[in-house]
Amino acid sequence: MSDTLKITLLGTGIPNPDINAFGTSTLIEAGGQVVMIDCGRGAVVRLAQAGYSLGCIETIILSHFHSDHFSGLFDLAMTGTIQQPYGNRRGPLHVFGPPGIDDIAKGAWLATKPDRDIRVADKEIDAEHMRIIPHVYEREGVVFDRDGLRIIAIEVDHGELIRPAYAFRVEYQGRVFVHSHDTRYNENLIAQAQGADVFIHEVAAARPEAIAKHPRIKVAIDHHATPQEVGRVFAQTRPRLAMLTHMVLLPPDPPSVGEVLAEISTEYDGVVVAAEDLMTIEIGPGVSVIPFRTGASGVGHKPLKNRP
Ligand SMILES: [Zn+2]
Ligand SMILES: [Zn+2]
Repeated sequence: MSDTLKITLLGTGIPNPDINAFGTSTLIEAGGQVVMIDCGRGAVVRLAQAGYSLGCIETIILSHFHSDHFSGLFDLAMTGTIQQPYGNRRGPLHVFGPPGIDDIAKGAWLATKPDRDIRVADKEIDAEHMRIIPHVYEREGVVFDRDGLRIIAIEVDHGELIRPAYAFRVEYQGRVFVHSHDTRYNENLIAQAQGADVFIHEVAAARPEAIAKHPRIKVAIDHHATPQEVGRVFAQTRPRLAMLTHMVLLPPDPPSVGEVLAEISTEYDGVVVAAEDLMTIEIGPGVSVIPFRTGASGVGHKPLKNRP
């Protein structure tokens, strides 16, 4: 396992409350390091399902500040302090984010005070373990570099009013995983995603009639990449494996995943896998994608229960 880059897709969803696709969150493991990228709704539940204690997470990197990418942070900050096998964090959470992460850290410290005061008075937790320590990164480039694991922020285009927004390139011993996070078709991402073993990209789609009729649907589509654009991105990067995540399929009459994949195939002739929560990707000499129900497991190697 020593030269393997392991990725667990904890959440592959969007803001919609969906039991099958929680908010975006991705666990990266390599070289003895564990880093979470984004911490959307339900990340703590998915961690527990995958067999990880919440306390094994000390470092989180956020891509941008839409709620579906960080609303799970507060649950992780609080619940992770509880000294039970599922929690057991023994220090603060270090959270890397664009400017604005300071406000989130300050706000979280204030908002979690009532819970913290009770548990400290009960001698149940150490108050400092509930603290979020903010680390601002102001531009694209290396955000994390430890024990051979490098995580590089790539500036993307998620719309004029959502700046900055970042994708991430994860490198370990020549293995490369790229996650688009939220973006429109973006040349900078295409340039920096070259040579990826696995490239997972977001997508958004709606019926042409719906886009013409409902201005809000057009606004949503304009913040993301269409299936044809995702096909062009994959065609210009040719990863060993292409995957889709964060599928924004807008009502009324949302296009199916099958229809989205068919549209992508008009631009890209390679294999594309639609991601689901708790899939594990192992990048070694080969590339494996293991759905949760067939045996992906975490650090604890606990028997799998509570399947999604
Ligand atoms: Zn999103
Ligand atoms: Zn977003």
